[in-house]
Amino acid sequence: MTSDTDLKEAAPGADAAWQDDMRAGVRHVRDLAALPLSPAERAAAQQAAAAHKVRAPKAYLDLIDWDDPNDPIRAQVIPSPDELITAEGELGDPIGDHAFSPVPRLTHRHADRVLLFPTYQCAVYCRFCFRKESLTSIGRGYTREALEPALAYIAQHSEIREVILTGGDPLSLPDNALAEIRARIEAIPHVRLLRIHTRVPVALPSRITSGLTASLQGRLMVTVVTHFNHPREITPDTETACRTMRQAGFVLLNQSVLLKGVNDKVDVLEELCRELMYRLGVKPYYLHHGDLAPGMAHRRTTIAEGQALAAELRKRVSGICNPTYVIDLPDGGGKVPLGPSHIEGRDNETWRIRGQDGKVRAYREVVA
Ligand SMILES: *Cc1c(COP(=O)(O)O)cnc(C)c1O
Ligand code: SF4
Repeated sequence: MTSDTDLKEAAPGADAAWQDDMRAGVRHVRDLAALPLSPAERAAAQQAAAAHKVRAPKAYLDLIDWDDPNDPIRAQVIPSPDELITAEGELGDPIGDHAFSPVPRLTHRHADRVLLFPTYQCAVYCRFCFRKESLTSIGRGYTREALEPALAYIAQHSEIREVILTGGDPLSLPDNALAEIRARIEAIPHVRLLRIHTRVPVALPSRITSGLTASLQGRLMVTVVTHFNHPREITPDTETACRTMRQAGFVLLNQSVLLKGVNDKVDVLEELCRELMYRLGVKPYYLHHGDLAPGMAHRRTTIAEGQALAAELRKRVSGICNPTYVIDLPDGGGKVPLGPSHIEGRDNETWRIRGQDGKVRAYREVVA
C-alpha cells in the first residue's frame, strides 16, 4: 500500500459520498481559483499557500460565509498572508515531537502512552496546525513497512498502555489500512486502549461510515478525540458522524485550539462546549493554548487572555462541558494546565482558596 491510497480508496456504495466531498473541495493551490474570493484575496491566499499545504473538503467549505472576511471557518482553512511572517521565538517542532522520537513515526514522552503517526496527510489542512512542518517535510502517507519499527518498539515496551494514532489524520486512511493497524496493535498484549486524534468528523463527516467504525472495533477500548473549534462546525452531518461512533461504542472527547478571531470569545466557547456535550455526546477534554507554530502569531492569544476565558467559561458551564485549558510546553515539557488556579496562598495547614463566587475562604486541613 502506498501513500497514494490515503483518501483515494476506490470503494463502492456509501463511501462514494466522502470521496465526492473531497473531489469537490480544495485539493491543490489551483483549486483556490474556484472559491468566491476577490482577485486580491485569491492572490494573497495562493502566495500564502507556500507556507503550508492547502486542502479542504466541500462539506467544510460550505460552512463558510464568504460575505464575512473574518468568518471563523474561513480563518481555519483559507491561507492568509500573515502565515508568511515567522515571529521570533516560533518553532518548527513546537512541542518537541522529534526530540522524543526513538524510531520513525513514533513519539514516546510519557511512559504509558505513545503517539503513532500512520500518515502525515490530512483531509483538511488547518492553517494553525502545530505539526505543519512535519506534514510538509515528511508528508508521506501510510505504508505497512514504514510502521514496522514503531510497532516493534511498542511490542518491546510493556509499560505502554495507550496507542494514540495521530499525524496527519489517521481517519484519512482507508478502512482496510485502519483495520490492519488496529489488528497489529491489539496483538500486543500490554496495549489496552486505542486513541485516535482526528479532524475528519468535523471536516469530512461523510467519511465516518459503518465500515470505518467496524475497522476499529476489536479487543481494545477505542477513544476518538475530535477537533471542533467553533459551534458553527456542529451540523446535522457532524451529529450523524458522532452518533455513528457512539453507537459503535467509542468514547468521544474533543480538543480545541484557542484561536484569536475564531473562538476567543466566552460566548463562542460556551456554545461550543455545550453543543459538543449536549448535541454530539462529545466531552470537551482540552482547550489548547496556541502552540508556537511558525506564522501563527496573528491567531495566538496571550496566556492571560486564555486564563480569563477559561475562568469565565468554568462559571458558565457544568463540569462535563468544561475543558482543561492547557499549554504544551516546548522541548517535551508536556501538557500542563494553565488554570484558573483557585489557590491564593497557604499558612501551614490553612489554605486560602477562592470559591466559584470569587470570595476567598480559609480551609483548614484536618488529617489523622
Ligand atoms: C498530548 C500527548 C499525549 C497525550 O496526552 P494526554 O494528556 O494523555 O491526552 C501523549 N504523548 C504526547 C507526546 C503528547 O504530546
Ligand atoms: S487535521 Fe490535525 S494534523 Fe492535520 S492540519 Fe489539521 S491540525 Fe494539523
